Parts: sequence; C-alpha cells; structure tokens
Amino acid sequence: MSPHETALGPVARAGAGTAPRPSVSFEFSPPKGPKSEASLWEAIRRLEPLNPSFVSVTYGAGGSTRDRTHRTVVRMLNETTLKPAAHLTCVEATRSEVDEVIRDYWAAGIRHIVALRGDPPGSLGGAYTPRPDGYQNATELTAGIRAIGDFDVSVGLYPQIHPESPSVEHDIEVLKAKIDAGATRAITNFFFDIDGYLRFVDKIRKAGVTIPILPGIMPVSSVEGLSNMSQRVGVTIPGWLANLFEGLDSDPETRKLIAASVAAEMCVRLTEEGFSDFHFYTLNRADLVYAICRVLGVRETAHSSTEAAA
Ligand SMILES: Cc1cc2nc3c(=O)[nH]c(=O)nc-3n(C[C@H](O)[C@H](O)[C@H](O)COP(=O)(O)OP(=O)(O)OC[C@H]3O[C@@H](n4cnc5c(N)ncnc54)[C@H](O)[C@@H]3O)c2cc1C
Repeated sequence: MSPHETALGPVARAGAGTAPRPSVSFEFSPPKGPKSEASLWEAIRRLEPLNPSFVSVTYGAGGSTRDRTHRTVVRMLNETTLKPAAHLTCVEATRSEVDEVIRDYWAAGIRHIVALRGDPPGSLGGAYTPRPDGYQNATELTAGIRAIGDFDVSVGLYPQIHPESPSVEHDIEVLKAKIDAGATRAITNFFFDIDGYLRFVDKIRKAGVTIPILPGIMPVSSVEGLSNMSQRVGVTIPGWLANLFEGLDSDPETRKLIAASVAAEMCVRLTEEGFSDFHFYTLNRADLVYAICRVLGVRETAHSSTEAAA
C-alpha cells in the first residue's frame, strides 16, 4: 500500500484488498406472516451467493416461533445451498418438549443449533425463573443437545457481560462450562466499543478458550429503536453513534448509509486486528449486510442454488 493509501480510512483501506477475506454468517428471524415471509426470502436469496459459513434463525420468546423457526430452517436446508442453524431456548418448556424439538431437527437433517437460555416472555431484562422440569440454562441445554445427536452447537457471549452476570470472570467460567458440555462456537451479542471487545476476547483467550468467537455485528440504522432494547440487553450506545443519527428520524435513506459505513468500519478494524469470522444480525434485510460484505471483499461464488437453477 502506498503512503497515500494509508492516509485513507478503513473502508478505502479494505478496498485495497490486501487483507484476507473473512468468513461471514447471517442471522434471520422467522417471518410473522406472508408479507414478511416474502421479504425474508428476498433477503435470503440476495445473501445466499455470498456463500456464508452458516445462517441462523432465531427462536421467539417462550417458543412462540417454534413452528415458524422449524419451517424456515428446513426450507433453507431443502431449497438453498445454505447451511442453516436453528436457535433454541429453554424458556417455558419441559426437557422432554425441548428434546422433541431437537430430535425433529436431527430427523430433518439440521446439524447446527444455537443453544440459548432465552429471556422471560414479555419482559426482556426481567428476572428469569427456570421451570423445575426444564433445562435450567444454556449449559444444560448444550449437554442435552449433544446427548441427542452430534450437533454443532453455538452459544451466546456478551462483550459487555450478561446483564445478570456479576463479572466477566463469571461469564468466562460459564463459557468454559458450555464448552465442556459440547459447545463448538460462541457468537457475541452486538457491541460498538471495539477496544472493549478486543480486551474482552483477549481475556477469554488468556483463560485458555480456543473455540471460534464470532463478533455479532448489528448494522444499526436507528438509534431511537435500539436504545430501549440495548439498555435491557446491557449494550451501551456510544455518544458518537447517537450524534451520527441525530435529526435523521424522518430520513431513512441517510440513516442506512450511515449504518452501513459504521458497521463496515467496525468490521475492517476487527479484520486488521486479526478477526476473520463475522456474524451479522440482518434484521431480515439484505442491503446493509450485502454492502458491508462487499467492503470486506466477500463476493458471490458460483455455487448458489439460484444460479444453479438459472
Ligand atoms: C448470538 C445470540 C443469539 C440469541 N438468540 C436468541 C433467540 O433466538 N431467542 C431468544 O429468546 N433469545 C436469544 N438470545 C438472547 C438470550 O436468550 C439472552 O441473552 C438470555 O438472557 C441469556 O441466554 P444465554 O444462552 O446466554 O444464557 P446462559 O448462558 O444460560 O446464562 C444465563 C444465566 O445462567 C447462568 N449460567 C449458565 N450456565 C451456567 C453454569 N454452567 N454455571 C453457573 N451459571 C450458569 C449465567 O451465569 C447467567 O446468569 C440470543 C443471544 C445471543 C448472544
């Protein structure tokens, strides 16, 4: 890179193409109805040619999306080239009910589950009371999944610690327990403090954890919508981010441009720190994530089912 090029910002530096191309994965939510189903599948089809390492589908509070999550994941498996993962929680279900869901996934050919405890239905951030006859937490759930089949199991991780956790050290012990139970990958909650994230991962590595840790990237196009939720899930919205969106409430196009450039800068900085796996919270839209992937050098491959069918 010439001295002139080094004066450019992260996005332009990434365009120089000297950094290795990262792996990406995409998270979707199950559709609520026919209209959202159509837009979800439009997003899936747009992102599929980027050949993500996997895609995942969330599980609604209290198992409310059990059937929709199952349908979406199985359709991905049967109709696309994607490698789908199903999120699963312990909330308001007995062990045998959860085990039945796990067995159904195995029978359908799904081999990757994102194992989570879940939150109390209707009160994100409220006190969680596990059912006595249910899985008590994601560690137990991970063990239960592995007892049923040789699944790849991803688990959640919180760069600003889990809101119920007393310390980062506790979270690291919990992560280690999940790995002992069979977890193969951790996916982090979204975050905006890169330096804090780097310190967090460094601590985990120093504690001897070697499984992949995928930074969860949320391209945020509205701070207003996010601030309520982020407080409850323990994510700080930095002042600089709020300033960038100030006065843009009725200007979604500009907010989208800012969202893509902020997330792209975060990812480029992380690639420059050696991170090579990113998990994107797509919010069921392809445009921002597609643009960020372009910046990272992630391009279409020739193996998508849409191209194969053409
Ligand atoms: C990548 C990602 C995806 C998510 N997807 C969904 C989703 O699809 N649906 C949904 O409802 N929610 C989802 N969530 C949110 C998640 O359910 C909540 O954050 C929830 O509050 C905690 O889930 P967990 O799996 O991290 O819990 P756990 O790891 O089970 O932790 C919960 C509590 O149990 C304790 N604990 C766990 N294991 C042990 C142990 N071995 N020893 C001692 N204490 C232990 C922890 O300290 C903590 O206090 C997601 C979160 C992330 C990061």
